[in-house]
Amino acid sequence: MSATISVTPSEIIQYLYCPRFIYFEKVLDIPQHEENSYKAMRGRRLHETKASLNKDYLRKKIGVTDKLQEQYLTNDLLRGKVDEVLSLSDDTMAPLDYKFAQYKDRVFSTYKTQLACYACLIEDNFGKEVHQGYLVYTRSRNKLIEVPIAAQEKEQVQECARTIAHIISTNYFPKATRYKKRCTGCTYRNICIQ
Ligand code: SF4
Repeated sequence: MSATISVTPSEIIQYLYCPRFIYFEKVLDIPQHEENSYKAMRGRRLHETKASLNKDYLRKKIGVTDKLQEQYLTNDLLRGKVDEVLSLSDDTMAPLDYKFAQYKDRVFSTYKTQLACYACLIEDNFGKEVHQGYLVYTRSRNKLIEVPIAAQEKEQVQECARTIAHIISTNYFPKATRYKKRCTGCTYRNICIQ
């Protein structure tokens, strides 16, 4: 296992969808095709929304005492950019992330994974415990949702990061996803032995 490979939240999300994505993209260097124009538009709109917000605004209702914006954090396993790192009145900290999305009564598991990665990064960089994260849904009038982050979820993302580093550093060909339905629309289905 390599200690020099650091893994992003989106790589962990891809790995959880199918472990072979990492192999094809990072070992064989075959990129996934993405809807780039939609992704770019979403990124631009999110950036505009964030830029229009009051940078000094502290969300006191949820106990925020201070915040740091746009924090690029790393540790020996992970790296990622957190929109806001919140200091809370109970001496814990929390990540806050903006989503160009509507809130539809449930939080996607991909968002939870991302927040769990940020929780690990905050704990390692600031030496404070993280028990929850926050999401702001910009297409639901900036609705704020609290997302609990369990110790087990933090351990799971770190375990995934170790496995991803192992796949990349040893050229290891991992098992296919158990969910065969996912292969139907997959970019790699023509080269993937299942
Ligand atoms: S074809 Fe299926 S097993 Fe292969 S990479 Fe795609 S989702 Fe994974």
